[in-house]
Amino acid sequence: MSLPYHSVSCPGLFYGTSARDGILSRIRIPGGILASQQCRVIADLADEFGTGYVHITNRANLQVREIRKEMTADVLRVLQEIGIASSLPEVDHLRNIMGSPTAGIDPYELIDTRPFIREWDNYIAAHAELGPLSPKFSVAFDGGGSVSIGDRLNDIALTAVMVGTNVYFRLKLNLGVSQVEPFIDTGILLKPEECLEVVAGFAKVYLQHLAVGSEKIIPHRKSRQPRLWQVLNDLGIERFFQEVEHHLPYRLRRVYPIWGDDQIRQHRCKDVAYNISTINRYQHIGVHSQRQKGLSYIGVVLPVGKLETWQTRGLADIAETYGTGTLRLTPWQNLLISDIPHQSVPQAQSQIENLGLHWSATNIRSALVACAGNTGCASSATDTKGHALALANYLDSCLTLDQPVNIHFTGCEKSCAQHSRSDIALLGVTIEQEGKTVEGYKVYVGDGNSNEKFGREVYSLVSFPELSLLLERMLQIYMAKRATPNESFGEFANRYAIEDLQRLFEQGDVRH
Ligand code: SF4
Repeated sequence: MSLPYHSVSCPGLFYGTSARDGILSRIRIPGGILASQQCRVIADLADEFGTGYVHITNRANLQVREIRKEMTADVLRVLQEIGIASSLPEVDHLRNIMGSPTAGIDPYELIDTRPFIREWDNYIAAHAELGPLSPKFSVAFDGGGSVSIGDRLNDIALTAVMVGTNVYFRLKLNLGVSQVEPFIDTGILLKPEECLEVVAGFAKVYLQHLAVGSEKIIPHRKSRQPRLWQVLNDLGIERFFQEVEHHLPYRLRRVYPIWGDDQIRQHRCKDVAYNISTINRYQHIGVHSQRQKGLSYIGVVLPVGKLETWQTRGLADIAETYGTGTLRLTPWQNLLISDIPHQSVPQAQSQIENLGLHWSATNIRSALVACAGNTGCASSATDTKGHALALANYLDSCLTLDQPVNIHFTGCEKSCAQHSRSDIALLGVTIEQEGKTVEGYKVYVGDGNSNEKFGREVYSLVSFPELSLLLERMLQIYMAKRATPNESFGEFANRYAIEDLQRLFEQGDVRH
């Protein structure tokens, strides 16, 4: 067995995909939770087969890029033995299971979601017949705590809520209708012990309705598989639920028994933290007390989600020396080191700094996000990652933030790195300037209407050399003019008409 490479949209470990910078392999990390030993093996893998770094994705996966030689059967077997690779190659392409990175350590969570993630992962690993699922079939478990993953897009989102004295999971679905409010609340509540059966029921009904031709199904070639939301829309939501119930020994628990398809569709989850303010979204960075007395976790900033292998090993050492050897990747492309006694926090922080990394939520890099960019992706108009890091270096030299600001660089409209709204979105474009083609960006801010995926456009063509000064000015005006110290950049921008914002950015007084 060697690693077959294909041009597919969703790579796995067994099925790498060809990218502009070489072969790309994706390692699923269910719930993002990794042991220090696994980190070291991944670092060795990236050194031997890649070029010495890994990327953390917006599903808390790891990507090894620029792979130039095939992974052998022995290598894959070792990865399976230490729990990094799926024991069934047929299901390795399925999307990572998402969970709150603070599961089990969050003082405010309603329920620890780790057992649910494990259970669904074990189920997948034991059911090769799930191979034909869409690779994008995605499930998230949110424990209802202080670090919500409600802003991350999933087909099925289960969010813990307290009803009376009992914890239930609200069943929310992505119907593919809106980028701005993607989830609908189905009005269904699940007891924790029902989650596995219901998610498995969704998978079974999806598979029953999959139009499968006579040709043999090849699990990793699923880029054209319908999404779950397409099957839900084609079949009708109510009918889909009825078919799920055929696989259950009970009826689904409807909070609003009279809801039909139309009522469900209208019930968008506006209360869900999909468009949560940046200030709340990045609160996992920095030092936080755990529910376990005397212990803290530290949220570590990984600039644009990139981690060199020497840093990976260094973080594994810190997790072992000061904690219990546990690292938790976040879907915001950062990571947490948990279980550190309060008295050891300063040493751990200083070791993190020694690795050239940061642990402050107000570091400009804490909420800086970029997709692969034109060094890795043929669809990209610009070098998003390179530009993001250069911008961060410049802004670091001229201003100090006191709240995180989410700046999202994307090389095309697909916005692989972040589907939810940002404070400032930068969409890569090419610009004709004095007979030359240069890389630049459209600049968007805050929220927009349902057709404005990236927010409201405030500048249409800004070349990269002009961008740093513009962003410096926008951030200084924000800090000087925000209504309260806790107003996020997006909330600040939403208060103004675009013309007023432009006037403010161009002529405003930056004194407080
Ligand atoms: S957002 Fe577009 S340019 Fe960026 S990685 Fe995705 S497909 Fe490529």
